[in-house]
Amino acid sequence: MALVKVIFACPSCDQPAVTPIEQPVDWQCSDCDHRIHLNTPDATLTSCVVCGNHEFYKKKDFPHWLGMTILLVALLLSTLTYYSYEKWWSWSFLLGSAFIDGVMYLMVGDVVVCYRCEAHYRGFSPTDAHRPFEITIGERYRQERIRQERMKGKTT
Ligand SMILES: [Zn+2]
Ligand SMILES: [Zn+2]
Repeated sequence: MALVKVIFACPSCDQPAVTPIEQPVDWQCSDCDHRIHLNTPDATLTSCVVCGNHEFYKKKDFPHWLGMTILLVALLLSTLTYYSYEKWWSWSFLLGSAFIDGVMYLMVGDVVVCYRCEAHYRGFSPTDAHRPFEITIGERYRQERIRQERMKGKTT
């Protein structure tokens, strides 16, 4: 099994953090010294180790800009070579970049994301229980966050 890492925001100060969770860890925030105990998730990741929530969605762990950059560089190279070299070169650049793009898309796995605290689980293989983002569920959690923000505003 690949190394599972969780990327999350510190519950106290929202500082982004990354930690491997192949064994239970006592995590301490480098910024505000907030401590939380992170248990290892079970094989099917039924509850979030950061907030204990039970709903997740999955998405491709592939940054869109990277794919676009590869394509742009390939286009640039193919137009440059179009005038100075054989046409064959420009075609192979284009086809090559499309191929690399496809392979990278397949190689990078899915990340599983917690609906509530948006903790990202990388290196974790999703099960059938993990579905792509659903706007209705996402909206429910967004409303919950807004309510919590208001509550915080009242108490402080
Ligand atoms: Zn913190
Ligand atoms: Zn969570």
